[in-house]
Amino acid sequence: MVTATLLGTAQDGGLPQAGCQQQCCNSLPLSAHRYPVSLGLVDKEGNGHLIDTTRHLAGQLSIWNHPPLSSIFLTHAHFGHVDGLGLLGKETMNAQGLNLHVSSSMFHLMEETPQWALMLAQGVFSEHVFMHDDRIMLSEGLIVEPVHVPHRAELSDMHAFVVRGPNHSLLYLPDHDDWNSTLERHQCTSIRQWLNLLKVDIALIDGTFWDMDELPALRQNNVPHPPVSETLDRLGARRDGDPELFFIHLNHTNPLHDEGSEASAKVRSMGWGVAQQGQQFTL
Ligand SMILES: [Zn+2]
Ligand SMILES: [Zn+2]
Ligand SMILES: [Zn+2]
Repeated sequence: MVTATLLGTAQDGGLPQAGCQQQCCNSLPLSAHRYPVSLGLVDKEGNGHLIDTTRHLAGQLSIWNHPPLSSIFLTHAHFGHVDGLGLLGKETMNAQGLNLHVSSSMFHLMEETPQWALMLAQGVFSEHVFMHDDRIMLSEGLIVEPVHVPHRAELSDMHAFVVRGPNHSLLYLPDHDDWNSTLERHQCTSIRQWLNLLKVDIALIDGTFWDMDELPALRQNNVPHPPVSETLDRLGARRDGDPELFFIHLNHTNPLHDEGSEASAKVRSMGWGVAQQGQQFTL
């Protein structure tokens, strides 16, 4: 069996988020804490392949029933997606020859960053640089395809991943700037058309903000993401033949963290979903 497990549902800062003194984060019970997004794949041989590496790696491996780790994929260099890399090195896991799948822009950044360059020199990783639209065969019946999407590229470019198992395919798209540029990049005019083109049965989609009023305008404009309300407007209700779609990468302020919110009810009423931490998909 090939599985994909969602190891966190929050945006890079997690829930609660450091620095937030509002109701969404203050005195939040442990049961409501959520890790930043990361996706764990287990192949037929029982080996684990991790997409994105957060500082909560230990807790995330624990809810994933910690398979032996065979490879790491990185979407991009923003902090929540890479800040667990150090845990793979000497001080903690002491990995050797772990297969590292990154774009050339991400690999270049690793070579230029002293802590990561040291890990490369110490042989923690065995690097594999991918190109847009490569097909990376991880084991029999498990293929990963990087999909380039426009996203603030101060440090590296950004790749979503399509994961193809023997029976189902899944899109992992935690971050992108806006639908117009993503769809244009792939010569599509609608989200539905793009998901069809990707041939996926399950789509885990950037749901960072619920709407444009969530953060003071100045800050939200600095971190562009298409709000969920816009994604819902573009999609309308789920139709026959549509993939299952779940929102991930939720900012601490996002009402979708609360299953009882009006926002969550609206997503469900349209036939879509909000992903749960630990949710497992059979591919
Ligand atoms: Zn992110
Ligand atoms: Zn908060
Ligand atoms: Zn990002």
